[in-house]
Amino acid sequence: MLLLKNGQMLNEEGVLITADILIKDGKIAQIATDVEATAAKTVELNGKLITPGLIDVHVHLREPGGEHKETIATGTASAARGGYTLIAAMPNTNPVPDSVENLKVVQEKIEKDAIVRVLPYGALTTNLKGEELIDFTLLAEDVIAFTDDGKGIQTAGMMYEAMQKAKNVGKPIVAHCEDDSLLFGGYLHDGTYAADNNHKGILSASESVQIARDAILAKETGAQYHVCHVSTKESVSIIRWAKAEGIRITAEVSPHHLLLADKDIIAGDIANFKMNPPLRGEEDQLACIEGVLDGTIDIIATDHAPHAADEKALPLDQAPFGIVGLETAFPLMYTNFVKNGDWSLKFLVDRMTIIPAEIFDLPYGKLEVGATADIAVFDLDVEYEIDVNDFVSKGKNTPFGGCTVNGETFMTIVGGEVVYQK
Ligand SMILES: [Zn+2]
Repeated sequence: MLLLKNGQMLNEEGVLITADILIKDGKIAQIATDVEATAAKTVELNGKLITPGLIDVHVHLREPGGEHKETIATGTASAARGGYTLIAAMPNTNPVPDSVENLKVVQEKIEKDAIVRVLPYGALTTNLKGEELIDFTLLAEDVIAFTDDGKGIQTAGMMYEAMQKAKNVGKPIVAHCEDDSLLFGGYLHDGTYAADNNHKGILSASESVQIARDAILAKETGAQYHVCHVSTKESVSIIRWAKAEGIRITAEVSPHHLLLADKDIIAGDIANFKMNPPLRGEEDQLACIEGVLDGTIDIIATDHAPHAADEKALPLDQAPFGIVGLETAFPLMYTNFVKNGDWSLKFLVDRMTIIPAEIFDLPYGKLEVGATADIAVFDLDVEYEIDVNDFVSKGKNTPFGGCTVNGETFMTIVGGEVVYQK
């Protein structure tokens, strides 16, 4: 038994109330203003914020195959450190979870090393090659959804078939939208920064044309379709239209696309501003924020993408895409969108807990009696500086090192077990 004393939690109306939470047998046994349980281990929270454990549906754990970048042990420790109790692991590993046998390799490693819940994605195509669809029926029960994240599906015909198959097994298609024929060797956004500094640009259209195509295919097939890391204003407009049409479409955005635009790139640290999709123009950033506000974009997902320092030190056109995000997402979002009064705390917390749970039909994301005790506790009062050397992730690649934030994780609990405590 564990008793959290004098925390603050959000009620249905989004008002903070002081509460004690008693955890017993992995579940929330009691929530009340003054719980007595002499047999329980008691943790005094002194008014810290208690939320449901955060959920991130877009994480690259790298293992198996990329253990020099991250392992399931370090990646899930990083998640716990960030207040996440459930993460979904992208399939660009070696082996790729595209068959029962390969998925088993991933599952066994998760079983052995993960300290938070990890739900693997299944690949859409064999070895993520984009050539032939895998047998969805074999993997459906053991994966959160199907995706070839990192690559777009290049033909409408293949996406159409994928949606039909996904619908038949009752799982969503999760799409990294990128048309390879519109890349032209780009590695930063095709905007003023790239033009002024002689870099090759990635067109916004490389993303939005696939979202438009897929929205129409989702309407045609009735499949559940989720868009990864939305980054352009055109993408936001298309998803807004698609939702108005009643299409089963949802979308995520990363903290970095809400917080940065290409004008914010620091020349001396440019590889840490290189991700895919790239940091777009300011009007795209603002459109993404607007999209979150009006419900066009449903959730926040980090696209946590750890890389080794020597890989990020390669010349910019060769350095890998991506930044880490698990240990910085909540404090960055809290500090920049809630603390300044733009969003309510509930608005943010819902987009990192219950809404992703609902989209992916997961039985988590709520603080209520009887619920599984997946819980995060944050300290909103103490300000601190993000220090990349302090990350438990192997990846130190982020443009947010040195930022001053509030919202440090104090405690993370998965199924009643404390997996992180400051
Ligand atoms: Zn992606």
